Amino acid sequence: MPVHLILLGPPGVGKSTQASLLRQRYPIEPLATGALLRAEVKAGTPLGRQAQAIIERGQLVDDAIMIAMVRQRLAALPPEQGFLLDGFPRTIGQAVALDGLLHELGRPLTVVLQPLVEREDVVRRLAARRECRSCATPVQLQAQPTLPACPRCGGELVQRADDTPEVILQRIRVYEQQTAPLVEYYRGAGLLAPVDGRGTPQEVAERLCTVIEGRSRRAALPRAAEVSRALGA
Ligand code: AMP
Repeated sequence: MPVHLILLGPPGVGKSTQASLLRQRYPIEPLATGALLRAEVKAGTPLGRQAQAIIERGQLVDDAIMIAMVRQRLAALPPEQGFLLDGFPRTIGQAVALDGLLHELGRPLTVVLQPLVEREDVVRRLAARRECRSCATPVQLQAQPTLPACPRCGGELVQRADDTPEVILQRIRVYEQQTAPLVEYYRGAGLLAPVDGRGTPQEVAERLCTVIEGRSRRAALPRAAEVSRALGA
């Protein structure tokens, strides 16, 4: 059965790093709405032009636009492929719309993964984050005196326009006001799995995989029971 995952957490908690590690383990399509919007900005599309100022102020793009963007991509997935949503949903309105969409598509959520790190670590990670100008790979700067090249394609590393100190604080405020209520929303639905987000990316990925394995086994159980009932066992 394909897995259907959400990575929920503030900017800088390591969602995109974990998404790239998890895609090596599961047949999932990572869907990062922030990266999709940045690609629209780079391509200068009408949506990109509309979104650019909003992103650079650290605010949220309209729910209807985001829901349409995710709907189009999820509906196009082959049945055997799962998905991992990174940066969506970000409001209760988006979460409710996602529930309806997943019901329509017959793709129930497996689990909502919530990596937890201290607030100071989030701010530190965002300030040290750079992104490849060509392939958008995120990189954490260590204490190097010179900027390294992109480890994936050798491209130039640049700072995202919304990773400046003022916009970082604004994005964390927006997370706390508009996105943090999703923690209770998914806890209430029995889908939330808080996970220790400290340590190396590989350590965090191992913890996430343990949760995913446990939840997908649990989701498969009712099916196994149905099959044995149908077989008269
Ligand atoms: P991210 O790369 O996830 O940090 O997203 C960068 C920016 O894109 C956010 O600060 C928002 O302005 C916008 N964005 C990304 N995903 C969403 C979403 N689900 N809803 C509204 N705005 C979004």
